[in-house]
Amino acid sequence: MTAQQQLEMLRDELREHNYNYYVLDTPTISDYDFDMKLRALQELETQHPEYYDPTSPTLRVGGMVTKNFETVEHEHRMYSLDNSYSKEDLQDWEKRVQRVLGDAPLAFTCELKYDGASISLTYEAGKLVRAITRGDGTQGDDVTTNIKTIKSVPLQLKGDYPSKFDIRGEIVLPFEGFAKMNAERIANGDEPYMNPRNTASGSLKLQDSALVAQRPLDCLLYGIVGENTGIDSQWQMLEKAREWGFKVPTVAKLCKTTDEVLEFVEHWDTHRHDLPYETDGVVIKVNSLQQQDELGFTSKSPRWALAYKFKAEQVSTVLNEITYQVGRTGAITPVANLEPVLLAGTTVKRASLHNADQIAKFDIREGDTVFVEKGGEIIPKIIGVDFGKRPGGSAPTKYIDRCPECDTALLRTEGDAKHYCTNYYGCPPQITGRIQHYISRKAMDIEGMGSETVELLFQERLITNYADLYTLTKEQLMPLERMAEKSAENLVNGVAESVKIPFERVMFALGIRFVGETVAKKLARAYKNIDALMAASVDELTAVNEIGERIAHSVVEFFQDDDNREIIERLKGYGVQFSLSEDQLENQTDTLKGMTLVVSGVFETLGRDELKKMIEDNGGKVGSSISSKTAYLIAGDKMGPSKRTKAEGLGVPIISESQFLEMLA
Ligand code: AMP
Ligand code: ZN
Repeated sequence: MTAQQQLEMLRDELREHNYNYYVLDTPTISDYDFDMKLRALQELETQHPEYYDPTSPTLRVGGMVTKNFETVEHEHRMYSLDNSYSKEDLQDWEKRVQRVLGDAPLAFTCELKYDGASISLTYEAGKLVRAITRGDGTQGDDVTTNIKTIKSVPLQLKGDYPSKFDIRGEIVLPFEGFAKMNAERIANGDEPYMNPRNTASGSLKLQDSALVAQRPLDCLLYGIVGENTGIDSQWQMLEKAREWGFKVPTVAKLCKTTDEVLEFVEHWDTHRHDLPYETDGVVIKVNSLQQQDELGFTSKSPRWALAYKFKAEQVSTVLNEITYQVGRTGAITPVANLEPVLLAGTTVKRASLHNADQIAKFDIREGDTVFVEKGGEIIPKIIGVDFGKRPGGSAPTKYIDRCPECDTALLRTEGDAKHYCTNYYGCPPQITGRIQHYISRKAMDIEGMGSETVELLFQERLITNYADLYTLTKEQLMPLERMAEKSAENLVNGVAESVKIPFERVMFALGIRFVGETVAKKLARAYKNIDALMAASVDELTAVNEIGERIAHSVVEFFQDDDNREIIERLKGYGVQFSLSEDQLENQTDTLKGMTLVVSGVFETLGRDELKKMIEDNGGKVGSSISSKTAYLIAGDKMGPSKRTKAEGLGVPIISESQFLEMLA
């Protein structure tokens, strides 16, 4: 078998597995085997760049970075839908339809109204060529690189598809994946996302497609537009789309009467919480495409379709008490403790109030009857007060001005909605929060230790910062509650093992405000060791790609603190990694020091991310747009002509990939 045949075979096989897993939800291979095959394909592709295929399953992992999403015109306009809320609305619509169509028999396709971000995908010769957001309906943003990372979007179709067509759908973030994402954010000390819909639509505009690839997004399709598609009804459209490899939910119904339609609506109004993703209604469409054609469009929506909105999920209940939580960074979050109430299938006892402004905006007070709403959020929100039920003599909420845990006066800096407890070293939830962050999976990943253990060790005065972890002995631990010899041993070993964790993760583990995983990596790579980083000024730090003022200040402040410096000295003594490893250093030079390089186009041997990493590894900075300060423009294939003109105009030298590699050699 030739390498090309081998490539094709692997690609086909992996496409089929992707389809089974992400579209049909019935995998036929283990995750491990899949990863092995994917890796084999990646290797072959690196060896044979000449067989590049824009529909290869390896592209699912992303990596392309888009700085500015191009605005593109939709070939077929994307319309809105008219809304209805009652049986009467629905019957009126049917009458209007019937008036246009005479006595011709009618049928309706009912589909769920998926609540996400609308998307239009263009396929040519069975390959995905473009993905555009809805935008204003006539033009949207080209988000193709990001959409390609969504595993249920076929890059290559199956069966007897038309040569060219657009298909419309909705990008959604299923509840389960959303909850998982939020659990991770909370564990990392980040604010959880508000709801799946906004998170889904925000994901489409992320610049780094590798981040999009990590989000469990899904794409549900419902409508095909194009010439000569060979389709003559909405129902057939759904079936065909499924055949060609698209994910089209099977919850849909072909109805003859509006009574049947209502039955479908009522059923899903109560059962929608059993679905894996968010929906906000039912879309009813005249089934025959010929009839759809006769009905046509108003200026903003099709006359042949109608959205029937579900009732908003809202309840009212009494707000018993407002309490305040202190996070690892000292941020205060007010929490509404509610009289337990059933909402959207779960009992709700608490709701987040976000910050002082939110409370003031709605004038929320203890004792009030409040309206609580639940979308896909894990934490329900308060959307207003039932002022008619406000008890006499109630007074406006006075936001706390001292920390509920340590009584320190709270600080609120301008431009920040939150109040902070500044007692960094003495405030218990901040102390334990920092240690919990340090041991967490993405940080030092200390085995044999969990959040409760940290609480316990802190209560027993065995630890007050993360450096203390390294002094723990088996003898100290064994007398503690629920601590058998084995677990004490595991804990001590886990801590000892953590000195192997690489510098970039140590940087994240330190828990410097605004220094998340990515920033930690950037800092570690740019400075190579902690001493250099500790000596850096705000100006020097902001010269590092993507490090802003806010982060720079926070880093400087952290290292200026004597206690932090002492903790770091101690960690060094215990053997924790505070510099890049030999391997990592080997590829690094200062050749490009002080230079900003811009990368544009598609490259033969290196990926764009690899190129960017090489620039950074060699001391350079990656620029996002060409300016007089750009040292070089590295141009690949398909670079936009406007970039070239701009570079030439500014006298920025344009070099090829191989010239760049020579420069470094
Ligand atoms: P609206 O934004 O309220 O005008 O509703 C129109 C939007 O509903 C469309 O742009 C689609 O993105 C979305 N939608 C969700 N599910 C469907 C569906 N099954 N059929 C048609 N549109 C849908
Ligand atoms: Zn405090």
